[in-house]
This record gives sequence, C-alpha cells and structure tokens, in this order.
Amino acid sequence: MDDQSLLTEISALKNEIQQLKYEKGISTFQDSNFHKSQVRFRTIFESSMLGNKIISPDLKILQLNQAMVALLGYDTKDEIIGTRILDYTPTEHLEDWKILQDNLWKNSMPSFGIETCLRKKDGTLFWCQVTSILFKDQNQNYGYTIIEDCTERHDLRRQKEEFISVASHQLNTPITSLKARLQVMNRMLGNENDVSTKFRKLSQEAETYTTKLGYLVGDLLNLTKIELEDFPLNRTKFVLSDVIDGCCSHINLQAEYTIKFKGDHKLKVVADIIKVDQILINLVNNAVKYAPDSKEIEIEVKQLDNMAKVLVTDKGQGISADHMANLFTRYYRVDKDMFKTSGLGLGLYVSSEIIKRHGGDMGVESEIGKGSTFWFTLPLN
Ligand code: ADP
Repeated sequence: MDDQSLLTEISALKNEIQQLKYEKGISTFQDSNFHKSQVRFRTIFESSMLGNKIISPDLKILQLNQAMVALLGYDTKDEIIGTRILDYTPTEHLEDWKILQDNLWKNSMPSFGIETCLRKKDGTLFWCQVTSILFKDQNQNYGYTIIEDCTERHDLRRQKEEFISVASHQLNTPITSLKARLQVMNRMLGNENDVSTKFRKLSQEAETYTTKLGYLVGDLLNLTKIELEDFPLNRTKFVLSDVIDGCCSHINLQAEYTIKFKGDHKLKVVADIIKVDQILINLVNNAVKYAPDSKEIEIEVKQLDNMAKVLVTDKGQGISADHMANLFTRYYRVDKDMFKTSGLGLGLYVSSEIIKRHGGDMGVESEIGKGSTFWFTLPLN
C-alpha cells in the first residue's frame, strides 16, 4: 500500500470511529458537531445534481457522486474510483487540466475554474464547466471539483459566433463598396461648381455615416475572428510614426482637432502594420467620440527596454477608477445610455487582444476631469 492510500485509509478509519462513537452515544459535544457537519457535507456531495469529486495530490479520484458517474456515462462509482480525470480527457484538451492543476497545486490558488471537454465511456465528448477548490484534511492536500455539463450553452455560443461571423462578412462587402462610391462621388462634387451646399453636406454626411457603419461591422468581424481563433498576424518591421501619420489623416481633415506627435520619430517595431493602424484609429476615434471638447490629442512614442510604448492622450472628462478595470472586456461601455454614442464596446477588447497576441500589453490611466491616456506596448524585434 502506498503512502497516499494509507493516509486515505487512516482518514476513513478515523471517520468510522467518530461514527461508532456517535452511534454508541459516547461522543463528546465536539465529536457530535463534527459528525453532524460531516453528514451535512456528505448529503450535499451525494445529492448534488452537479458532478462532484475529490482527488488526491497524485490526481487519483478518491470519491465521487452519482451525478459524476452519470456525466461520464458509467454505471457505478467503482469503475471510476482510482482513475484520473486525465483518463477521460481528449488529447487536445489535456492542456486545460494542466493549467487548472498548475494553478491549484503549484501556484496554490484556493480555487480555479475553466471550461473544457471530457469524454464519456461511449466515446462521445461533452463540454463542462469545472470549478476546483483545494482543501487540507489531516495535513494532506485534496482537490474538490464540481463539474457541470455546459454542452448546450457552449454549442449555442458557437452558433451565435458563427452567425455573427457570417453576418458581419456579408455586411462588410456592400459597406466597403458603398463607402468607395461615396468617396468618389464626394471627390467629383468637390470639382463641381453648381452643386448646392446642402447637397454637398448631405453627401459628405453619408460618407461619414458609412465610415462609422464600417467601424461597427469591422469590430464585429474582428470579435468573431478572435473567438474563432482565426486571427493570424502578418509581422513586418516598420517605423511607428509613419503609421501614426497615416491613421491620423482623417482626423486632421476635421479642422477642429489636432494631433500632436511627441517622442521618438524613428522607433521601429515588428508587428502587423494593418492591425496596429486599426488600434490607433480606434484610440484616436475614441478620443474624438468620448472627449469631444479636447481639441488636441497627443500621441507619444517612446522606448522601454526592448519594447515600444505608444500613448494616446486626451484632455476630456476622464474615466472613474471603478470602470477602468472593465474597459478591455468585451461589450463594456461606461455610459449606460448605450445609444448616445455609436459603438458596441468592442474596440478596446479587440485592440487589447491584438496587442496580447503580439506579446505586448495595453492599459489606461485616467483622472476624472483631467483626461485619459490609453497606451500599448509592442516588441522592437
Ligand atoms: P465603443 O467605443 O464601441 O463603445 P470601446 O471598446 O472602444 O468601445 O470603448 C469602451 C468604452 O470605453 C467606451 O464606450 C467609453 O465609455 C470608454 N472610453 C473609451 N475611450 C475613452 C476616452 N478616450 N475617454 C473616455 N472614455 C473612453
């Protein structure tokens, strides 16, 4: 018998002694309280509709409830006791359990949750939400895991992602064509003398709204690309200030706003130039959208060790600290009046995902009444 089995056996014997003492009426007050709480735990553990299991540090399943047996498609607990959860894990999901185990056992996190996949006895796969808690008993660490079948939720989410992906693809093509035609039309109107001011204005507005529509559909398209892991990076070496000049031309065209460039004009990074351009456009557009009274937007580029840091600063209303932590999560918008400004709350989420994939970081510093600085870093090499 190995050490682990011995400890489990000792623990079981101790419990049995408590049980006998209780039945014979020779238990102390403490014993009886201990027994009651044990019975309570066992009842919850056994009757839970969710799969429950307890594992040892060598990841063997020591105890499980009937819901867990049913989840894995078996008939009896005995078929599963002594096996490891990795025995039911498809190869492509082994990494998920490794992350969970590392966080619990190595990093000593008190609890950890993931969504992953398991295989039933008949070979079919199901998605599950796993929550594990680490606890100590008789100086020994154990893992307590709750497993919930979330296949339906997972499939629905997948369908929604696929639908948004197809819909945004389908919308993107006509919007791009419409915008191109409006651009040509406005250029032609610029050379015409006998066009009324009103008509010229309407035509320019049509182009502005089409551009906004393009950004919204672009955000949706990028969201689904990230979720469906279809997000390749095409890295090249380029000078950051060149991209900044290019992406700001549309803002500089609006006489009201000026972009002030500060810092290293020559700094080069290795990144996907189109995606960096997209991030800068998003940050500058946000400054115009959410800090409309700040007529000057500052963009600074500086070097920090082997990274470049780009900072976009406005002198608008700023953002309160309780919102700042959520800004980079999907669909998050500070203003509860969702329809006051156009947007889906995706720009910063998409931008931060792009930066993460480059090995950089993204963040914000802001003070109410003083303005905000959104920054990101990119590798120099
Ligand atoms: P969207 O602009 O589509 O709402 P973003 O992800 O780009 O989505 O921005 C998320 C939210 O962050 C915005 O809705 C806004 O509330 C806030 N925000 C972004 N940039 C600024 C800024 N420069 N100043 C103040 N608030 C901002």
